[in-house]
Amino acid sequence: MDHIAHWIGGAESTGTSGRVAPVFNPATGRQIAEVGLASAAEVDAAVAVAKEAAAQWRTASLSKRSAVLFSFRELLAARSGELAEIVTREHGKVLADAAGEIARGLENVEFATGIPNLMKGSFSEQAATGVDVYSIRQPLGVVAGVTPFNFPAMVPLWMCATAIAAGNAFVLKPSEKDPSAALFLARLWKEAGLPDGVFTVVHGDKEAVDAILANPDVVAVSFVGSTPIAKYIYETGTAYGKRVQALGGAKNHMIVLPDAELDAAADAAISAGYGAAGERCMAISVVVAVGDIADPLVEAIAARLPTIKIGDGADPSSEMGPLISAQHRDRVAGYIEAGAAEGATVVADGRSEDLPGGGFFLGATLLDNVTPSMTVYTDEIFGPVLSVVRVDTYAEAVRLVNDNEYGNGTAIFTRDGGAARQFQFDVNAGMVGVNVPIPVPVAYYSFGGWKASLFGDTHMYGPDGIHFFTRGKVVTSRWPDPGTSSIDLGFPQTR
Ligand code: NAD
Repeated sequence: MDHIAHWIGGAESTGTSGRVAPVFNPATGRQIAEVGLASAAEVDAAVAVAKEAAAQWRTASLSKRSAVLFSFRELLAARSGELAEIVTREHGKVLADAAGEIARGLENVEFATGIPNLMKGSFSEQAATGVDVYSIRQPLGVVAGVTPFNFPAMVPLWMCATAIAAGNAFVLKPSEKDPSAALFLARLWKEAGLPDGVFTVVHGDKEAVDAILANPDVVAVSFVGSTPIAKYIYETGTAYGKRVQALGGAKNHMIVLPDAELDAAADAAISAGYGAAGERCMAISVVVAVGDIADPLVEAIAARLPTIKIGDGADPSSEMGPLISAQHRDRVAGYIEAGAAEGATVVADGRSEDLPGGGFFLGATLLDNVTPSMTVYTDEIFGPVLSVVRVDTYAEAVRLVNDNEYGNGTAIFTRDGGAARQFQFDVNAGMVGVNVPIPVPVAYYSFGGWKASLFGDTHMYGPDGIHFFTRGKVVTSRWPDPGTSSIDLGFPQTR
């Protein structure tokens, strides 16, 4: 049985806790490895190594850091195929989708290569007579990332590229369900010339995360995962005095106005509802059909479902892979049952499809006539279950989105520019698509939701990422001529 080790001080470290967790290939349902689960003592030892590395790394010049980022970018681009295979083997998503997440992660690395520009401060000459004032941004020290199973390469890259470029040491606690991508990234960082200890991987579960939160040398924690854990991380981390950004779950609505291009809307609903088997925080899980487009839209979505090819993600012809675990598959299937019991119309039932045996597969499910009080509407399902809510007006559609607990992404499909602009103005969500179903911002903007989809005030990566992983300092400076100083107990004046 393969053992997946930690990465501490630039080398694999097998760990001493004696605790391990199984890692499965979700397409076969078979265990393929075990991963060590770090104890609090192991986390503390890893952080101590990272702390020493951080003290050195912050002294590296901006061009040196940028050069390491460029090398890492080249290595990652060259070896993205291998990484995609690892992601597919442990997560289950199809190879093309795994390659897609790596490509989006690569964008964050490319953004971070511009660190000399991104770290620039500002300078005011002659703020008072003979006095200059300037601002600089400095790294924090040791920062940590705790990441979810659903993007085992992209989400760590969202965090580590910026954190490391900014001069921090980064400790990653990846999901224990698909931990190998993190180790692959660690090896690439080393090959790119990153000093040992600047990128660390500690695998683990709650014990390791709690140790990260409690360790006084970890200055900031960036988290992505489900809302209850995000809230816990935010509350606990800030109680320890840390800087925390914690991105949580989602329930993303796609509003389809009566004038929308029907085929484009149906294609988008399929792509965003069932891509990665619905295990994306930006997946569309609710289609809000406004007015008389509902019947033809449901028909068009239903007609497309049988064309989705479900299979092992490693088979290039597969379009939708399995779910992450048997337990999660059963939980998602339970929602189909619940939806039917609560009065939703089951247009397509993923349980009744002819699915590949062995793995954690579930077919694409479409529920119509869903209402806001049903659990299929209120809960984040995180699987290939798309709900259709029918409303009469645009105002009702916006109210649905705004009343929802979550506010990650949302999209509107329409040919009316005025309606789209009004939607962008009205809607309470952090990321909005106009005829774009999965509006994940490009790397030079920042990613983040509102409401229960994000705890904290900075979004992830891009300009907010630089802000999160650095702190500001303002220097007020005078170089007086000898003999010109005097004592003045008054408050400093500028005029
Ligand atoms: P999760 O919350 O179960 O786990 C996320 C991380 O937290 C993992 O590293 C896990 O080991 C750790 N963890 C789990 N339980 C913990 C506990 N009790 N105490 C401390 N740490 C704990 O999430 P997941 O199932 O891995 O990922 C899916 C979830 O992530 C979905 O809710 C999805 O919407 C969300 N997500 C959100 C975004 C976003 O950008 N908002 C992006 C991707 C995924």
